[in-house]
Amino acid sequence: ESKAAGRGRVTVFDEEMLSDKRYRRLVERELRAAVYLGELELHYQPIVNPDGSTHGFEGLIRWRHPVRGLISPAEFIPIAERSTLIDMLGEWVFKRACADIGHFPGRSISINVSGEQLKRDEIVTMCDRVLKETGRSAAQFVIEITETVATAATPEILRRLEALRGLGFHIALDDFGTGHCGFNYLKTLPIDCIKIDRSYIRSLAHDQVAQIFVSALAQIARIQDVTIVAEGVETQEEFALARAAGCNRFQGYFIGRPMPRDKVGPLRTAKTGQFALSA
Ligand code: C2E
Ligand code: MG
Ligand code: MG
Ligand code: MG
Repeated sequence: ESKAAGRGRVTVFDEEMLSDKRYRRLVERELRAAVYLGELELHYQPIVNPDGSTHGFEGLIRWRHPVRGLISPAEFIPIAERSTLIDMLGEWVFKRACADIGHFPGRSISINVSGEQLKRDEIVTMCDRVLKETGRSAAQFVIEITETVATAATPEILRRLEALRGLGFHIALDDFGTGHCGFNYLKTLPIDCIKIDRSYIRSLAHDQVAQIFVSALAQIARIQDVTIVAEGVETQEEFALARAAGCNRFQGYFIGRPMPRDKVGPLRTAKTGQFALSA
């Protein structure tokens, strides 16, 4: 994980350049080639249980560009989403995750699926096909979709989510709290997990409303048999507060940064209970 990815991020593709159609085409072509040239990497960030044992990992894509360096997904996913290139990246990610999961016995891998991918049936057929090709079980994987996608979900998108769930995937609602998902709507969504956006975790220490919000959500989740993940846990205090509020799982720099598969240290079990504070 480059230091630049978190703080004071350097923008590689700026807005103005991307408004130029020819420039966008160029980046798209480079990105397509990146798949074949092996420039993409899936980094893994641990997700832990309240006792500190490793529950699983979130796979986060990076582009190791030969000239521009390590590029954040926040920069190139939006470009890929403008075309079916996102389907190609999505397939690369899931194949990579299927290949890597053998390194993390007994642990799950969460992958991020774009709302654009959910607009086509290809997401379901691709996942089904890759599972068969690799002999993996869907139950080992979590598909993360953002709250914004879920609240704008068409009947077709909901049907695809149900189909993915039917294959055995767990579904997580990512960045929860940034959109406007009502509690009522939450009940109707086919989800197994809610990831509370890091802006709420950040506020826990000084904002009582955030504490009440997270606690209430955790109580509702318990009744509905949904798991709550606290995202972006950066300090011991945030970890303690999120745990006190009733969150079930924790992810963030305090616990571990995203890192290449081979740099992921020994998995922490309930017995050791220690986090690797650095990669
Ligand atoms: P996300 O799914 O919400 O992933 C969490 C983001 O927060 C990651 O940024 C992660 O590195 C960062 N993060 C984790 N812990 C902390 C923390 O304690 N503090 C702070 N400040 N940040 C933390 P990253 O890797 O840059 O990814 C950004 C977004 O790009 C992801 O947000 C996800 O929406 C998207 N993305 C990443 N990989 C993929 C992918 O394979 N496919 C698609 N479609 N989108 C992806
Ligand atoms: Mg995510
Ligand atoms: Mg998130
Ligand atoms: Mg996010």
